[in-house]
Amino acid sequence: MPQSQTQTINNNKIVITGIHAFYDNYIWAISSSGTSSSGNKSIALVDPGDAEVCINYLQKHDLVLNNILITHHHPDHTGGIARLKEYCAKNQWPVTVYGPKNENIPFCDVKLSEQENLNNNNNSNNSVYLKELNLTFQVLDLPGHTSGHIAYVNEEILFCGDTLFSGGCGRLFEGTAEQMHTSLKKLASLPGSTSVYCTHEYTQANLAFALSVEPGNKELVAYNAKVAELRASNIATVPSSIALEKTINPFLRCYQVEIKENAETQTKCNLNTELETFTAVRRLKDNF
Ligand SMILES: [Zn+2]
Repeated sequence: MPQSQTQTINNNKIVITGIHAFYDNYIWAISSSGTSSSGNKSIALVDPGDAEVCINYLQKHDLVLNNILITHHHPDHTGGIARLKEYCAKNQWPVTVYGPKNENIPFCDVKLSEQENLNNNNNSNNSVYLKELNLTFQVLDLPGHTSGHIAYVNEEILFCGDTLFSGGCGRLFEGTAEQMHTSLKKLASLPGSTSVYCTHEYTQANLAFALSVEPGNKELVAYNAKVAELRASNIATVPSSIALEKTINPFLRCYQVEIKENAETQTKCNLNTELETFTAVRRLKDNF
């Protein structure tokens, strides 16, 4: 059963529901009290990798799809776009697909980048206004997991795809450790109350690794116990928050001496900078 959170942004009540897809993906459905031109409630979907689960959700709740937000090009985030476009066309719903400027996203209508570029044919926007939801997002460039990965953020909520997970971060498929470190620092600088909507339920496995590099972190130990309880009842551990992640996520805490020393012991290398520790910790996680 999908779980929902209600967030109020500028007096606008937003409901965000995680639609389960594949083994451990969440496709986030965003709705508000507003309605589409047909009178039904309009939603936006974030990273719909699987169209069928989304269409089932739309039908079950009598919803209209008008906006699709994509964070990066991996198939488990983009695989449903073509079928959803077709479904919207059949229903005569206008639908806009937003995606990163620097990646090849199928059916992408609006290309986005943190660095707005209005030169000639290279148009891109650095913010998104979803009129059906009366909701605005700023775009952040987050290279690391893929080279053109973006996030959508406003005063309250962050959709960060596969960059920041609860207790972990995305694998480095295209970017460098330095790029990912910079991207995560950008997210860590957001207000602590920002809700973090990542795309995978990886928290429990991430915390097992986190404890291997920072066993002395009492908040981490306590959070691990809480997550074990939630997962035993099949309850989602996301959204998280920036404040929580700064307390328990080793990839945001590589300045901690305990993490550096454990990474040095495990890699048998001297780690002289925070970036070197981050790089070592990311490598350790790959082999955990
Ligand atoms: Zn990915």
